[in-house]
Amino acid sequence: MHPVPSPYLVPFDGSFRIGAAPTAPPDDTPKDKVLEKRLEDLNEELADLQRVLYAHDRYAVLLVFQAMDAAGKDGTIRKVLRGVNPAGCQVFSFKQPSKEELDHDFLWRVAQRLPERGRIGVFNRSHYEEVLVVRVHPEYLDGQRLPVADAGSEAFWNRRLNAIGDWERHLADTGTVVLKFFLNVSKEEQRQRFLARLDEPEKNWKFSVGDVKERGHWDAYMAAYEAALAATSRPWAPWYSIPADDKDYMRLTVAGIVSDTLKSLPLAYPPVADADRARFAEMRTLLENQAE
Ligand code: ATP
Ligand code: MG
Repeated sequence: MHPVPSPYLVPFDGSFRIGAAPTAPPDDTPKDKVLEKRLEDLNEELADLQRVLYAHDRYAVLLVFQAMDAAGKDGTIRKVLRGVNPAGCQVFSFKQPSKEELDHDFLWRVAQRLPERGRIGVFNRSHYEEVLVVRVHPEYLDGQRLPVADAGSEAFWNRRLNAIGDWERHLADTGTVVLKFFLNVSKEEQRQRFLARLDEPEKNWKFSVGDVKERGHWDAYMAAYEAALAATSRPWAPWYSIPADDKDYMRLTVAGIVSDTLKSLPLAYPPVADADRARFAEMRTLLENQAE
C-alpha cells in the first residue's frame, strides 16, 4: 500500500518535528457548514467502500487514534464512521490495563481486538499508550514486571518502538491496512475546552481532575509523541498528524484520508464463476415457476 498524499502525512525518515506540525487549519479553510456537507458526502462514500471491503474479504482496516485529552477522538470516530454499517465496524477504547492484561506482553490486549477481514476496526487509544503515557510515567513499568535491567532507558523505549514497528509490518503483510491519526490539539485550545467542560452543565461529566494534572506533563507528552511518530510512520503503517483545533476540519481531513486509502486498494466484488452463473438462470426459472 502506498499512503495517500496529504500535507499531514508524517515522513518515513524520522524527521518529524512536533513543534512544526500545525494544530490549526490553513487560513483558506471553508466555513464549517461547507466542511459538514463535504463530510456527509464522504460518509456515504465510506459506507459504499466498506460494503466492497466486506464482499472482497481480503483486507481489514485498522484506524488508530491517539491524542491529548479533549482533542476530540470520540467525536471524530463518531462523525467519520456515521453511515457505515455498524456490523462492518468495531471500536475499542483502551484504558489503564487490567491485572490480566498486565500479566501478558503489551501487544496481547490489542492483538485480540484487531478487526477481522472485511471490517473497519478503530482503536481509541492503542498500543501507543505504551510509549506515550507509560514513557511520561515510567513508574507504570513496575506493574509490567519486566525481566530487563534497563526498563525506562532510551534503549528500552527504542526497542519498544521497534517492536511496535515490526508488529505493524506483520499486520500489513497479512492484510490489515493500518492508518494512524494523531489529533494535534494546541495547549491553549485544550485549556479552552477544559474550561467549557467546567462552564457548561451538559459537559461537566467529561471534566476530569486527572486530565488537568496530565496537562502539567505537556512537554513530556509532546517529546514522547514526536519520538513515537518519527519512529513508526512507515509506508505500510503511516501516521497522519491532523490539526485538531477546528473539529470540523479535523473530521473532514480524517474522513478524506480513510476514504482515499480505501479507494487506493484493489477492492472489487468477487466475480461469479461461469458455472455458478449458469445455475443463476436455473434458479431464476425455478423461482419464477413458484409464483402463486
Ligand atoms: P474520555 O476521557 O474521552 O472518555 P479517554 O480515552 O481519555 O476518553 P479515560 O478513561 O479518561 O479515557 O482515560 C483512559 C486512561 O487510560 C488514559 O489516561 C490513558 O493514558 C490510560 N491508558 C491507556 N492505556 C494505558 C496503558 N497501556 N498503560 C497505562 N495507562 C494507559
Ligand atoms: Mg479522558
